[in-house]
Amino acid sequence: MKTHFLPHLQGDDEERAVCGVWLGEDSGMSGDWSRVDCQRCIKGKAKITQSVASEEAAIVQQMGDMANFIREVQP
Ligand SMILES: [Zn+2]
Repeated sequence: MKTHFLPHLQGDDEERAVCGVWLGEDSGMSGDWSRVDCQRCIKGKAKITQSVASEEAAIVQQMGDMANFIREVQP
């Protein structure tokens, strides 16, 4: 059994791990790097961390735009 990294943005119904491996019933997921033992995830840690950070930034940006939009629409 391998434990892959699971960014908290991803749901439990994800079919593929962040490293691109298809998840099986014997695959574990964790948002805690100290529990991740998948070599592919560990090797790509820097890249994964970066993409998670930029995804989060994009979501924050989107929410900000949405808030601005709502504010503008209301009288
Ligand atoms: Zn993995």
